[in-house]
Amino acid sequence: MKITRKSFLKAAGLGLASTTGVVTGLGELTKAFAESKGKHACLVEPGLCAGCLSCAIACKKTNENPGTYDYSPDLGGDTFTTVKFKNLGTEDEPNWLKTKVQCFHCAEASCIDVCAAGAIKREGDIVKIDKDICIGCKNCHYACPFGVPRFDPELGIMKKCHFCSHRVPEGLPPACAEICPTDAVFYGTKEEVLRRAEERMAIVGGKARIYGKDILGGTAWIYLLEDEPEVYGFPNEPKFSSASMPAKWLTALIAAGGLTIVPYWLIAKEAKEKGGGK
Ligand code: SF4
Ligand code: SF4
Ligand code: SF4
Repeated sequence: MKITRKSFLKAAGLGLASTTGVVTGLGELTKAFAESKGKHACLVEPGLCAGCLSCAIACKKTNENPGTYDYSPDLGGDTFTTVKFKNLGTEDEPNWLKTKVQCFHCAEASCIDVCAAGAIKREGDIVKIDKDICIGCKNCHYACPFGVPRFDPELGIMKKCHFCSHRVPEGLPPACAEICPTDAVFYGTKEEVLRRAEERMAIVGGKARIYGKDILGGTAWIYLLEDEPEVYGFPNEPKFSSASMPAKWLTALIAAGGLTIVPYWLIAKEAKEKGGGK
């Protein structure tokens, strides 16, 4: 049972009397959270987005990622969410589509299936990369239908949105949802989120559709779109990718093991030659 510094300090602050009590209490909380499903979800509605980038800034702050106020047009090793801008109008009369992007936290998550190191795990509604286990093979990036996980060259590992796993289990909303001034990011239970999506769809009308509810086993982050998903840069029919992708596994093996396998092979060969081919 692992107790983090943060959880220990929190428990100490609550004045829990015995060490045994702390361990048992935290263990039960963590276990209950990890087993919960449908308790945590978000609805992203590009039609309500003001493009203020508060969500991206809040995400960088809460994750202590560098470049807090730098706009990044795409996700990256230190950018777990951003807002993509696309002009649907003309230069003279622009009509900006603003789409916040991050991990969808898929129920059927390709990233988990293809991870060469078993570093990606599900905790309730959250799909997380364990930074201590990740070997940076990039399999998850290629398998993800949205290309979400990105490489952090400094640490040599993959990173992505972790659904504010340092806040949500403690009853706090994700930082990006909390700060959004227009409710373009709405946080609640899956039931609340789907109810709001249906209500908003009826109000918006036209080609409005819910994206995420019926794909990849049902994602925890869903969208209310007003047009085809491709207009927003999402695949119309995202597909689950499994570990049976030989090319991707080969890439992973080369990236993860090639550099160690080759020297050992050379050392063995050299030793054999020195030993007279015995
Ligand atoms: S969106 Fe991509 S990275 Fe996120 S859970 Fe789904 S497959 Fe994994
Ligand atoms: S849920 Fe947390 S980690 Fe994910 S995009 Fe929002 S602020 Fe960033
Ligand atoms: S905080 Fe809300 S309104 Fe502002 S850019 Fe993000 S999603 Fe859009």
